[in-house]
Amino acid sequence: MSDCLFCKIIAGDIPSAKVYEDELCYAFRDIAPQAPVHVLVVPKEHIPSCDGVDDGNDALVGHIFTVIPKIAAAEGLTNGYRVISNVGADAGQTVPHLHFHILGGRRMPDQMV
Ligand code: 5GP
Ligand code: ZN
Repeated sequence: MSDCLFCKIIAGDIPSAKVYEDELCYAFRDIAPQAPVHVLVVPKEHIPSCDGVDDGNDALVGHIFTVIPKIAAAEGLTNGYRVISNVGADAGQTVPHLHFHILGGRRMPDQMV
């Protein structure tokens, strides 16, 4: 998607602090971190949100969930971490390219769920 911020980051058109990359996904530091560790993991394929996950890309999302604990371990999050994916306006999604926030390095203040 030519007008998608995260597609531009994946393509290298917008700089980012890369944490991890493989053929299917890319991970980078959030520009406005809300915890000492705040990494975004995105599929290289443009999927708008969790709402766009289906039988055609479920393996890709499963792969990302094998990458998340590797990143957490590499970031030293031995005491736990939170994984968040906002979907749509009510959840406050601001970038319409599927992404998983990895947050850690401190006790999370809000216990919504
Ligand atoms: P959302 O609000 O959609 O769940 O999460 C989008 C995240 O992308 C936010 O946490 C925001 O700080 C981050 N973000 C927005 N623009 C950029 C950018 O240009 N670079 C990086 N690294 N993160 C960004
Ligand atoms: Zn995109």
